[in-house]
Amino acid sequence: MGVKIFWDERAPAGIQAPVQRCISMILQMPAEIVIEGGLLLKGYDPSRRQYNAQQLLTCIDTIRTCAAISDLMLLVIAGDLYIPGYDFVFGLARPNNGVAVVSTARLGNGYYGRSENDDDLIDRIAKEGAHEVGHLLGLEHCSNPECCMFKPDTLDELDRKKKMLCSSCQQQLSL
Ligand SMILES: [Zn+2]
Ligand SMILES: [Zn+2]
Repeated sequence: MGVKIFWDERAPAGIQAPVQRCISMILQMPAEIVIEGGLLLKGYDPSRRQYNAQQLLTCIDTIRTCAAISDLMLLVIAGDLYIPGYDFVFGLARPNNGVAVVSTARLGNGYYGRSENDDDLIDRIAKEGAHEVGHLLGLEHCSNPECCMFKPDTLDELDRKKKMLCSSCQQQLSL
């Protein structure tokens, strides 16, 4: 089993390949990039200027089922995400359906008033992408602040994580 990374064409371009390589390395599984221009994304809330991540997952679950895709699916989009009750989320996964989404909206330095840097952006998309796919593989949140499965609430917490799973999470994957 592998993961298909559906990269919305409005998400940052030119960095897909290194993100794919990192996610594949972190999870020790094949990953493939699919550049998507025609995805009909539902769940946009104009009053919040954010996508409802749960509605997005329902949308890509339908695509996965209709196209009979057996790989896991990770959607990468530029739009900011929320789930009801939260201001925002970096990403969301629905393990029972094999689908996950991650947003690049808050992963670039520009969002925080710092100068843009592709390496930072690649690292963060890879960590949060691998985190969501980790949920699809059955992993829960991890208390090790350096593990990819740690749940970051801030950019600093995200940057503290390493591009790897801790030994305990690795063990769970290989069980
Ligand atoms: Zn999580
Ligand atoms: Zn861990």
